[in-house]
Amino acid sequence: MNEKETVETTETEPEKFRLRTIISDSDVGDLRKPSDPVSLTELNSSDTKELIQALKDYVTKHGGLGMAAVQLGVHKRIFVMRRPFNSGNLSVIVNPVIHRGTGHAVKGEGCFSLPNMPATPMVKRMSMIHVTYMDENGVEQAQDMLVGMDARIFQHELDHLNGVLMTDKKSGGRGFQQWKRSF
Ligand SMILES: [Zn+2]
Repeated sequence: MNEKETVETTETEPEKFRLRTIISDSDVGDLRKPSDPVSLTELNSSDTKELIQALKDYVTKHGGLGMAAVQLGVHKRIFVMRRPFNSGNLSVIVNPVIHRGTGHAVKGEGCFSLPNMPATPMVKRMSMIHVTYMDENGVEQAQDMLVGMDARIFQHELDHLNGVLMTDKKSGGRGFQQWKRSF
């Protein structure tokens, strides 16, 4: 998730972790495929450590709020998010599950994988969520609660792991429907 309306996508990224967007048909397939759970052994592998570093680097470099592994072409249930959302701290979230949520809020969102949108989609999400996940060190986080923007980012990135894009949940935006029909 990013907070800018447009993202610079012409810059060259390492091919191994190329950003997936909805600009080309093949990339849509990547973004729509659900991601697989990550085992502790897998989390500790050098491949996964490299992936996590690539996610952190991308979000840091491009000023985002979060990013899911699938956006770099890896179908593992991992994402990184700024938490608190306006801080420099990047939390690594593995195998996330939302157990319950309360309240609703509607707010505009951005996404690295949906650049050049004609309008910022307004997305309705739960305003407080109770979640479990595994952290970067493989420690199970059995009781965690997120509110406000932290809850929004968590839901946005978890959607990516299920092949869901924010545009599937939009509640409007001028010119948006016509743009959406193009993919
Ligand atoms: Zn996104």
